[in-house]
Amino acid sequence: MADQFKGVINQLNKTCALMKIEHDELEILRKPDRVLEVSLPVLMDNGRIKVFDGYRVQYNNIRGPYKGGLRFHPAVSLDEIKCLAFWMTIKCAVADIPYGGSKGGVAVDVKKLSQGELERLTRAYTRGFADFIGPYRDIPAPDVYTNAQTMAWIMDEYSHIKGENTPAVVTGKPVEIGGSLGRDTATSLGGFFVLEQVLSKLKLAKNKISLAVQGFGNVGMNFAMTVYAAGYKIVAVSDSRGGIYDKNGLNIEKVLSHKQTTGSIIDFNGLKNITNEQLLELPVEVLVPAALENAIHEKNAGRIKAKVILEMGNGPTTPEAEAKLQKKGVLIVPDVLANAGGVIVSYFEWVQNLRHYYWEQAKVEGNLEKQMTNAFKKVWQTKQKQNCNLRTAAYLVAVERLVKALKVRGI
Ligand code: NAD
Repeated sequence: MADQFKGVINQLNKTCALMKIEHDELEILRKPDRVLEVSLPVLMDNGRIKVFDGYRVQYNNIRGPYKGGLRFHPAVSLDEIKCLAFWMTIKCAVADIPYGGSKGGVAVDVKKLSQGELERLTRAYTRGFADFIGPYRDIPAPDVYTNAQTMAWIMDEYSHIKGENTPAVVTGKPVEIGGSLGRDTATSLGGFFVLEQVLSKLKLAKNKISLAVQGFGNVGMNFAMTVYAAGYKIVAVSDSRGGIYDKNGLNIEKVLSHKQTTGSIIDFNGLKNITNEQLLELPVEVLVPAALENAIHEKNAGRIKAKVILEMGNGPTTPEAEAKLQKKGVLIVPDVLANAGGVIVSYFEWVQNLRHYYWEQAKVEGNLEKQMTNAFKKVWQTKQKQNCNLRTAAYLVAVERLVKALKVRGI
């Protein structure tokens, strides 16, 4: 979507106008601090050189170093990375962790690269941005089509460049080189804590609800596994190739092993396949978009039947769709709250790296629960107090914290 960033800032402006927030400091939050674009030459397996465009947007670091994931996807654009970097700034403030916001990306279809090409691309990205990232500058993490292995390559390349072992330059690393226990499941576990709180506020019993999850990657798959293990009924899941639906509930463990064997969740156990569009419109209580932006838009919003949308992916609901859904009384739990578990445990990983002292998984998860619960309580109280929706409440919490930091530091 062209000029998505303009829409995102419009949303910030509307929130501030609605809540009568006026601060000169807000002007700083309407633009990224730094926008970087680097050419990344990569030697391909056929002996030819291909040059990729690499992006990094460092949005704001007033509350701490820039922090944000790295995305490898054919649809990556600078406009998209700006939006994602802005949301990271808001998310870290909502979660109340000492980070700013950033994001990076490369427009590439990783499914068309060999493992060697992928490694050389990742190392080229690291060299391209080596002067701008670092444990106290900007700390990448996995996002769409990047993972712990990607982070290991970045950590290795960066450590060679700097001449010292630097695990804290990235989070979401393998545990063998300084990754945190519990990081791979942190985003989904954080979302699960939020889900339980929301259901208790709405007085919706676990055995009375069903869920549909769009996206079956790090976030969607782990979320589905977590809620399934907790006894919830998941009736539909999907990945980039389509979805499956069983109104009686899916065995998510079996779906996962099917995906591991065949590469997709479709064609599972004789079930009829559905499209990603159909999944969004199923008669479920909770819809969990965990793939890409703008899945729920003006055209399909009217057909959505869920009572709750838990945004585990970033930016899945357009502002136009949100306005329609709100009129229908749908509760949208915004991305900047629902999926903050990932960056919270990234923060724990960074703390462990800087201290060279590693925590047990139970400590990681206990601290995550505390941090997520505090964030949820603060946002929910703000929603009640201001009589606004949850996204507005989250933005209010974040803007207030960011403006306070800007004021006290001065410019
Ligand atoms: P991933 O690459 O592990 O998985 C992406 C999933 O989306 C895959 O299952 C893929 O098949 C599916 N997908 C791709 N295109 C699709 C389409 N058009 N329709 C439906 N499904 C599609 O990525 P991830 O890390 O799980 O990220 C998913 C979302 O969660 C993104 O919005 C990301 O920014 C957000 N997020 C990720 C983290 C994290 O810790 N990884 C943290 C916070 C937010």
